[in-house]
Amino acid sequence: MPHILITNDDGYQSPALHALARAMVAVGRVTVFAPDHNWSAAGHTKTMHKPLRVSQSVMDDGTPLYITTGTPSDCVGLALLGIVPERPDIVISGINNGSNLGQDITYSGTVAGAMEAAVIGLPAIAASQEFAEGDVADAASGDEAALAARTAFAARLVAGLARDVLEHGLPPGVFLNVNFPAIPPDQVQGIQVTRLGRRVYRDVLIKRLDPKGRPYYWIGGDPPTGEPQAGTDIGALSHGFVSATPLNMDMTDRAQMEEMAHWGLRLPE
Ligand code: MN
Repeated sequence: MPHILITNDDGYQSPALHALARAMVAVGRVTVFAPDHNWSAAGHTKTMHKPLRVSQSVMDDGTPLYITTGTPSDCVGLALLGIVPERPDIVISGINNGSNLGQDITYSGTVAGAMEAAVIGLPAIAASQEFAEGDVADAASGDEAALAARTAFAARLVAGLARDVLEHGLPPGVFLNVNFPAIPPDQVQGIQVTRLGRRVYRDVLIKRLDPKGRPYYWIGGDPPTGEPQAGTDIGALSHGFVSATPLNMDMTDRAQMEEMAHWGLRLPE
């Protein structure tokens, strides 16, 4: 029976983490190792200058749950360096609240959890679901049925994908970035294997003054949009498909290597 390590970046209390863990029990033995607070947009942060605390608990169904002050990639590192007694066969990070598409992967703590597994040499999947307009309102009004149904569907799909990865394996340094559109499960068109698309960020600098008159800043603005090109992750979601993008830790641009061979680079005089 495979051993599955689950982490996330929204923290151990995220309902989507619990939904994922419940679905994954059908695939193997599950251990959850998650941060004690929300680390969204922490990227691939490794804690180096302060100690890490880990407490041990259990999920509702008895699944072992480790909670740490560290980041998502710390979770995977701590687990694999010996805190979790048995080495996992696969690492799943998510399910994140909010999609991780295009250049988002460089900001995402969710993707970093899977990336850390790939660095260490384990197959991994990062899973994220797009926000819908009503999500916050639904949660606030107590009518979370639509969101819960989407999350449960996503969790079942990730469980199936985990089976596929365990069966076929992934090359060293390769992991999957999976995103779900914010539409009811019965409207999902299928699963597309995609490449990264291009996000369009709409960040704005917000300057305010503190009580002493000194400026402080927020990087704010509207949520990003994207170019919905066919074959990309952004295109897949915009057409109602689940997107699965194989990512590679080798970010080398080989075409540019050839180009730079003609630059005549040399040591300073
Ligand atoms: Mn998050």
